[in-house]
Amino acid sequence: MVEKEDLIFRLNKVKDKIKESAEKAGRKCEKITLVAVSKNHSAESIKVLKNAGVKLFGENRVQELEEKDNKLKKDNIELDWHFIGHLQRNKVKYLMRMPNCNMIESLDSWRLAKEINKRAKKNNKIIPLLIEINIAEDENKYGIKPNEAETFLKKVIKLDNIEIKGLMTIVPYTEDPEEIRPYFRKMRKMQQDLHDRVHPLPELSMGMSNDYRIAVEEGATIVRIGTAIFGERNY
Ligand SMILES: *Cc1c(COP(=O)(O)O)cnc(C)c1O
Repeated sequence: MVEKEDLIFRLNKVKDKIKESAEKAGRKCEKITLVAVSKNHSAESIKVLKNAGVKLFGENRVQELEEKDNKLKKDNIELDWHFIGHLQRNKVKYLMRMPNCNMIESLDSWRLAKEINKRAKKNNKIIPLLIEINIAEDENKYGIKPNEAETFLKKVIKLDNIEIKGLMTIVPYTEDPEEIRPYFRKMRKMQQDLHDRVHPLPELSMGMSNDYRIAVEEGATIVRIGTAIFGERNY
C-alpha cells in the first residue's frame, strides 16, 4: 500500500515540473493535459489522486481498465479514462460499453480503425482517437511508420464514426532523455504539417516519466505519466 502523502507529494512535483517546462518554452501549462497512468496500481491509489484533483487516468489493458472502473463506481467515483495500449480488435466492443473512456490514444492499424468505426456506428457514437506513430521506427513497437502517416491519416478520416484528434508516440527509453529530443521535435513537426495540410490535429501525446519535461518543451499537449506519480510498478 502506497502512502497517501507520497502520492500527493509526487503528483505535485510532476505538476510543478510540467509548469516549469511549459514556461521555459513559452507555453501555458493549462494547455497540457496530464494522464495519470495507473496500470498495475491499485484502485485505492487512484482514489487518492482523484481526490487530489487528477481528472484523467490511463490504462493499457481493457480488462484492467474495466475492473478498476467498476470497483471505483461502487464507491461512487466516476473517472475519465484514456486507453493508451495496443488494442486487440476483439476487445474493442468492451471499450464501447464505457462512456467514460473518452479517448483511444493508440490507433495503430487500418484493421483496428475499421473495427472501432464499426462498433462505434452500432453504438451511435463517434470515438476520439490519436494515431500512434512509431517515430523511432523501432521494430519491437506498434505504430504507424512516419513515412506512412499522411496516407494513413487521409484514409482514416474518411471513416464516419471516428474522429482523429492528433498524434501519439512512445519513444525508446534512454539513460539520457536529451537523446530523444529529436524524436519529439519530429513529432511536433509532423503534427503541424499534417494539421496545416490534411486535417485538424490539436493533440500531441508524448512524454512519460523519464522524459515528459523534454516532451512539454517540444510541444506535447498530453503527457502520460505513471511511475513518477504512482511509484514503481510491481509485476
Ligand atoms: C506505461 C505507459 C506509460 C507511463 O510510463 P511511465 O514510464 O511509468 O511514466 C505511458 N504511456 C504508455 C503507452 C504506457 O504503456
